[in-house]
Amino acid sequence: MTYVYIDGDYVHEEEASVSVFDHGLLYGDGVFEGIRAYEGKVFKLEEHIDRLYRSAKAIKLDIPITKKEMNQAIIKTLQKNELKNAYIRPLITRGVGSLGLDPQKCPKPTVIIIVQEWDAMYGDLYSQGLKAVTVAVRRNSIDALPPNIKSLNYLNNILAKIEANVKGGDEAIFLNQQGKISEGSGDNLFIIQDNQIYTPPALNNLKGITRKTAIDIAKNKGIEVQETDLGLFDIYTADEIFVTGTAAEIAPIVKVDGRQIGDGNPGKITKKLMDKFKEITGEIGTPIYG
Ligand code: PMP
Repeated sequence: MTYVYIDGDYVHEEEASVSVFDHGLLYGDGVFEGIRAYEGKVFKLEEHIDRLYRSAKAIKLDIPITKKEMNQAIIKTLQKNELKNAYIRPLITRGVGSLGLDPQKCPKPTVIIIVQEWDAMYGDLYSQGLKAVTVAVRRNSIDALPPNIKSLNYLNNILAKIEANVKGGDEAIFLNQQGKISEGSGDNLFIIQDNQIYTPPALNNLKGITRKTAIDIAKNKGIEVQETDLGLFDIYTADEIFVTGTAAEIAPIVKVDGRQIGDGNPGKITKKLMDKFKEITGEIGTPIYG
């Protein structure tokens, strides 16, 4: 039995429900985060909470509890569910309103925290490598719906995932409006060429927290990471490719659009980063149980 936090209460999952007039449901009007806990510690909790409040600010949504209260509510939800390894999903919707879309008619945002036992998302593919496909649907442009708002409107990402599924890919790779490499449907993308790591700038992607962790790990190992525009040629001819995300962690890509990447196995540098990532997720974080 899972307890879900809703507006200050901890309710059983069967009773955890929101109104059909909630604008999160009616319009995808809201924001969310995905966070992981490893071995009794929440990884990068403050960074995720900061991003949640920034996403909310960007859509002019006032979260009715402070960051500190959010932090405590997340920890308490994990404690109530006796979890040590978990995926944590805080979300804030615009709340109940009329059928019209005007957010001013929604007086009270809904705050929800869902937690779940969770294993690494890609299973065997961490050792085998993922097949990725580029998709026809382009990443939302920054002047329409900036990807840096982690909003409940994830249809752009879902369209990419549908296309990846249809094409037999494990993950989609988005291009942006200019035809440059953007990101995955739920992760950031990196390539390695001649022992240097490259990743697209985060202006038209989500500024991933795992992305930052991977960059820090690489720098600590003396491997240079350059933020630069990348095209299809760069990914088709890369020595190694990997993606990063809270759910994906660091995952190797060994095929893109039918082109084999490197020797077709997870790359050497990618594996080094994966190993270090595994190590630090077990070491650092906000303790759940004091
Ligand atoms: N891009 C998108 C579109 C995502 O949904 C995610 C997952 N939150 C990421 C990148 C990776 O971000 P993070 O490392 O902060 O989970």
